[in-house]
Amino acid sequence: MTTILVTGGAGYIGSHACKVLKQAGYTPVTYDNLVTGWQDAVKFGPFEQGDLSDADRLDAVFAKHKPAAIMHFAALSQVGDSMKDPGTYWRNNVLGSLTLIEAAIRANCLDFVFSSTCATYGEQDGVVLDETAMQAPINAYGASKRAIEDMLNNFGASHGLRSVIFRYFNVAGADPEGEVGEFHRPETHLIPLMLDAIDGKRPALTIFGTDYDTPDGTCIRDYVHVMDLVEAHLLGVKWLEQGKPNRVFNLGTGTGFSVRQVVASSANVTNRDVPMTEGPRRPGDATALVSGSNRAANELGWSPSRSTMPQMIADAWRWHQSGHYDQ
Ligand code: UDP
Repeated sequence: MTTILVTGGAGYIGSHACKVLKQAGYTPVTYDNLVTGWQDAVKFGPFEQGDLSDADRLDAVFAKHKPAAIMHFAALSQVGDSMKDPGTYWRNNVLGSLTLIEAAIRANCLDFVFSSTCATYGEQDGVVLDETAMQAPINAYGASKRAIEDMLNNFGASHGLRSVIFRYFNVAGADPEGEVGEFHRPETHLIPLMLDAIDGKRPALTIFGTDYDTPDGTCIRDYVHVMDLVEAHLLGVKWLEQGKPNRVFNLGTGTGFSVRQVVASSANVTNRDVPMTEGPRRPGDATALVSGSNRAANELGWSPSRSTMPQMIADAWRWHQSGHYDQ
């Protein structure tokens, strides 16, 4: 069986990726430092605890498992935190990825699927966000991811590293079979915080900013189901296996939802009220981020099937109610 090294495989998206990799006949080896990941989310293949900054540990893991490709999810990913503490983001995400890439090259493991973000586009009013849009991140998280994209391109030219870069929009939902789901500590993401507020685990959801230049004054995002997202990663591995060229793909549905629309949909799906308050803007948040590209559908053959708002909330709600949040 072909082995794939999955950095961040104990995290939200990485654990779902391991599940689809295993289902597709691959062996996913999770490499994770468990700072934001959970060991009990590693269910689908071997676990190697380690930090991206630990070159010796990475060398040992490459030597032991001989992966054919890497899926690189491990990263700090909170926009708000990245604005308060950019150094940690640059050190962990950028230096960590450099250490990983150099270890991959030493091991001659040259196929690299990278988890990037729409936050690399920044604030671009009226611009269609397809893969050719200018990258002008407005927060340190997005800047760190853009730097890694540049790094992959540089090592592609110098060492033949081959990459598929996915720029995610907002990832939501959970494995419908309930084996893995979203769990961050502390939680900062809209949908899980809202579900907490709905069932009384938090007093209320705070809406960050109601004075944006949008129809209802709240930020607009493009939400994609985590299962659809990781299916695209599987297609990315196959793309590289087939010897296709380095490529960047947006992963979003092209439909934007305001914070208030997500709240309304959650109330509908759960049939409960959403306790909420209105607060100031969160530094680093762009007004609207919606994918304007069909490249993943046209070239990869990606067809997201669960990425409707009610489905994402229903799957997240089922996971939320399963008690995993209470551990
Ligand atoms: N948001 C909010 N209240 C919260 C968390 C998030 O209003 O408690 C908003 C946030 O400002 C953004 C959207 O919800 O417009 C999605 O934020 P999230 O942190 O889930 O993802 P991000 O867009 O930062 O990747």
